[in-house]
Amino acid sequence: MRALADWSRSGIRPLLILGLALLAAWPFLIESAYQMRLFTIVGIYALLSLGYQFIFGHSGALSLTQGTFFGVGAYASGILSVRYGLGGEFTLVLSMLLPLVLATVIAVPVLRLESHYFALATLGIGQVVLLVAVTWQDLTGGSNGLAGITALRLFGFEFVKGHGIMAATWACVAVGAFLSWRITRGLYGAALQVCRENPIAAVSIGIDTAALRFAMFLLSAVFAGLAGALYAHTIRVVSPEALEFPIMVACLTITVVGGRTHVAGAILGAILVVNLPEWFRGMGRYYLIAYGLALLGMIIAAPYGIIGLLAQWRSRLLPQAPSALRLASVAASGRPASPAAAGPLLQVRGIHKAFGGVKALTDVSLSVGRGEILGLIGPNGSGKTTLLNIVTGIYRPDEGSVMLEREYIQGRASFEIARKGVGRTFQNINLVDDMSVLDNVAVARHAFEGTGLAQSLGAGWTDPAWRRARSHALHLLEAVGAAGVAHNPAGGLPYGLKRKVEIARALALEPALLLLDEPAAGLNAEEQLDLAQRLQAFAREGLSILVIEHNMPFLMPLAQRIVCLDQGEQIAEGAPSEIRTNRAVIEAYLGIPDERLVDAKGT
Ligand code: ADP
Ligand code: MG
Repeated sequence: MRALADWSRSGIRPLLILGLALLAAWPFLIESAYQMRLFTIVGIYALLSLGYQFIFGHSGALSLTQGTFFGVGAYASGILSVRYGLGGEFTLVLSMLLPLVLATVIAVPVLRLESHYFALATLGIGQVVLLVAVTWQDLTGGSNGLAGITALRLFGFEFVKGHGIMAATWACVAVGAFLSWRITRGLYGAALQVCRENPIAAVSIGIDTAALRFAMFLLSAVFAGLAGALYAHTIRVVSPEALEFPIMVACLTITVVGGRTHVAGAILGAILVVNLPEWFRGMGRYYLIAYGLALLGMIIAAPYGIIGLLAQWRSRLLPQAPSALRLASVAASGRPASPAAAGPLLQVRGIHKAFGGVKALTDVSLSVGRGEILGLIGPNGSGKTTLLNIVTGIYRPDEGSVMLEREYIQGRASFEIARKGVGRTFQNINLVDDMSVLDNVAVARHAFEGTGLAQSLGAGWTDPAWRRARSHALHLLEAVGAAGVAHNPAGGLPYGLKRKVEIARALALEPALLLLDEPAAGLNAEEQLDLAQRLQAFAREGLSILVIEHNMPFLMPLAQRIVCLDQGEQIAEGAPSEIRTNRAVIEAYLGIPDERLVDAKGT
């Protein structure tokens, strides 16, 4: 019974089993060679789309080169088998290798582009490759293509027309589906999700978003190349058609209709998109209209694809039981400050930053000691958040230096700075709304667990790194007082709780320095007191904290020192008692009467 419960929790669902059974029965119902070829084509498209899910679904980048990688794979196999008589050991491998090389070369200039420019650039690359294929007649056969491609032979075994190539194709689909499932679940999969949904949050927890995207792009190319090779051995001719846009459109349609992140979506989508024209053929010349309407209807009814829709229903009808997490014993916070190290943990010197004509920061210097809580105050627009963004590497300062543990970090990538032990929260919350609170925090263990593609592939049925990360996360949620909502989606939480979840996520980095941007906003007086006490406890354990706050009754008793900014300039620095009576500070807070600042003394 217990085993059964574990089984169902691990993701195997009755619908999936039914689908697999139907798929397994399909070949036995095939009556003609034509149907067999159609079923083979379904497998080829499923493989193509499984690959496309990596870049389009899991990375959220609208790549339009998937059809090109497919064509390159098809040509590679075609040319090698027709011109050189090579077997599948070479044709399949080179069909995967060439798109991989092409993807690596184009990734450098293209992958960093913003979404629509990325789409356009990838489209352009496709046109160039097509042109090469048409003009390089000696090699590719030009616009006529190459005929006479042999059957797929692997180590002397021939996959004959019909059954043979169909079995080979679906074996590749099975392996591809398994790899895709392994790669995109667990901690690595969660990191992918954060990259896609909230890249700013991703870099703030040490995730190298560019590296993940690059890996996904390469994977998509390899899958497409293999699909192309199988296509060449199935159709037995290769022509510029293999590189033309309709293949890309079919791939995009399959992924959108089936589901962009579920393995089953690629297979179901391929079945539908390949067969719909057949099923509608009886309608004569109206079939294109019916086909178009059916596709449109599906996209409107199920924007995340059919499998996405099913997954949504399932989570609504059968809310996942919070799995019993074993609590690892973890410290609430803190890389212990190295006692031998002297001097402040963070030292910011002479920072200047302008946005066009707006001088956001002018010659700002401050430091945060080990275990110290430093307050940063100033009217709206005085540059507080900008300073925090400079420390975390989101902005590069025009002038000045940022030193952490006596190492210059200005100009370093955000994710690197996070990995060095700088955790932060955001003034405008940056959580992934569709993810549970627990997973939002757990994913911040990504850098710590050192999860890469290889570990993700090697992990067993359940990803142990993910299990450890989640149990660690539950501890941290307890430490900030948000464990009660661990299994809720983060999007539905009240503002104050979201802030606490962000603090827990930052703590998952085991930071030496915690940067909080207005953490008390949205909390009532009681919650503010609770938060202040928790922060003080973290600081006693050695965590250094920089708090941006407007709320003086919250900050005055909390901070050991306070720095005040006004219009980007540092106008005061000192103990709370000095700041409270500082004329310049009082004047900078026009509209805040003296009494309110003084009042904070008593509260
Ligand atoms: P605070 O957090 O103290 O309210 P900010 O640091 O957010 O202030 O902003 C300081 C100034 O810099 C403001 O005038 C703001 O409009 C400007 N600013 C901040 N970020 C940007 C940006 N990315 N582009 C242009 N101007 C910006
Ligand atoms: Mg701000």
